[in-house]
Amino acid sequence: MGIHSKKKGLLVVLSGPSGAGKGTVCGALRTYAPELVYSVSATTRKPREGEVNGVNYFFKTRQEFEEMIGEEQLLEWAQYVNNYYGTPREFVKEQLEQGKDVLLEIEVQGAKQVRERFPEGVFIFLLPPSLKELASRIRGRGTETEEIVRHRMSAAEQELGEVEYYDYVVVNDRIEDACDRVRSIITAEHCRRERFINDQPNWLEGM
Ligand code: 5GP
Repeated sequence: MGIHSKKKGLLVVLSGPSGAGKGTVCGALRTYAPELVYSVSATTRKPREGEVNGVNYFFKTRQEFEEMIGEEQLLEWAQYVNNYYGTPREFVKEQLEQGKDVLLEIEVQGAKQVRERFPEGVFIFLLPPSLKELASRIRGRGTETEEIVRHRMSAAEQELGEVEYYDYVVVNDRIEDACDRVRSIITAEHCRRERFINDQPNWLEGM
């Protein structure tokens, strides 16, 4: 029978302030870590240029989104800068049951909800190297009005205080290094004694 090096899927939450580069790190991880499954969120935000429904987000009307909330289809959801964002529950559940590691890239209010429901998840806080860099990233996106930039900046400064709810902190100085750190965290988490014993309580008999 032998010992398996890996069994249950991990729920990995990548969160942090707007402008920390969550989307960029997540996008890069799609290439660097193809073994991870990426949860596609639902949102009422309008698609940005180049964004594809079902790939970047499931784009919904407010009414559709509120129906999803009412039908408890979402694992977590939050209102962020006047739009709804949420994680479809069923997909995540299915993938975890199949033993796949699932990555959620979500803002901090949603991460808190996931933490309450899935304390066994792995919570990673992504930090920008500085506040100056954070502002320039929010601006540099070039897709938002000045009012939205200001709103996102003040949300981001508040969000920095949420770091204490996380297991790990990754500073996003260089994208490749940030991706490496996220992958190393996932590898280490799979090797945790508690998870191993939990997943394979009879491991000794199986050796
Ligand atoms: P953006 O509009 O820039 O794509 O995303 C705005 C914020 O919403 C980002 O911080 C992003 O991580 C977060 N976000 C994206 N999807 C979800 C989700 O399903 N749930 C929550 N709570 N936040 C999300």
